[in-house]
Amino acid sequence: MSGGGRAREGAFPCDLCGGRAFRDYAPAIYRAGAESFGLVRCRSCTLVQVRPLPPDEKIAALYDDGYFEKDYDSCLSESGYFDNTRKLKERYGAILDELERLAGAGDLLEAGCAGGYFLDLARSRGWNVKGVEITAAGEQYARARLGLDVRRGAFPPAPWWDDESFDVVYMGHVLEHTPSPSSAAAEAARLLRPGGVFLVEVPTYIDSFYFRTLRVAVPALRKAGIGGSSLLRALKFPGPDETIPPYHLYEFRRATLAALLKKNGFHVERTFARVPRPDDLDGAKSFTGRLLKTLFRLLDFLARRWGMQGGNIAMYARKGI
Ligand SMILES: [Zn+2]
Repeated sequence: MSGGGRAREGAFPCDLCGGRAFRDYAPAIYRAGAESFGLVRCRSCTLVQVRPLPPDEKIAALYDDGYFEKDYDSCLSESGYFDNTRKLKERYGAILDELERLAGAGDLLEAGCAGGYFLDLARSRGWNVKGVEITAAGEQYARARLGLDVRRGAFPPAPWWDDESFDVVYMGHVLEHTPSPSSAAAEAARLLRPGGVFLVEVPTYIDSFYFRTLRVAVPALRKAGIGGSSLLRALKFPGPDETIPPYHLYEFRRATLAALLKKNGFHVERTFARVPRPDDLDGAKSFTGRLLKTLFRLLDFLARRWGMQGGNIAMYARKGI
């Protein structure tokens, strides 16, 4: 629990502040093979992170050929990335509208570009686009099917490009997967021209009031026979035989993400919060289904209107001139 749990000294320092004192936050929440991984909260800067980190080869093995089919959307959608173009394109169009307001259309790098749909749309709107992608499936699709200039690898580093090569660097639901978000932000700062925009989108659910409340309520929900449903799985409460791999190594809040950007020389210009609704509620007809749909609509309204946190957050940050 936040504020509770025993204090621990970690061999891996906090990625944001370098501190080495942590408190347990969600012990053994993730599993890869026989090993489990827990979330801790830094006692100095409050960033929630997986400590100790899984070894690099274990992280690389998570992004095998099945990643986009089963795990891409954190169980929010039954369909994989490659089946979901319409919904993705709507979201990407709104992002480009905002980027064009802030930066015009120039040189854009997407770090963690998956199959390249965002880059493809950006190119059609006049951007000069490049990408980096860790999965072979994503990189090959982007290159062969969409004809995009995408390099295969983890980000950072991005040795293919010189300092100050881009007007925009975009990381959409990628920063929380990287072993060191601080190094990723530093690499984005290197690649951006002065005044360039670093756009970061991350989930903000685990380090939120919702998750902490649900943690108390879920045993009762399970007792009532709701446990094991896809909704609980999407809320990171898997059934007894299900496991979640340690994809998300960091859990941000508005304050911790802003601190990370500031530390790397960025000034946050715009922040947008959202609470997305799981896809399988779209056609819900049952009473519970319709109730949940209304609840998600209300939470999304509160997030958009008052910045209430607990779904996703997008920060548009400008590199100092
Ligand atoms: Zn810290």
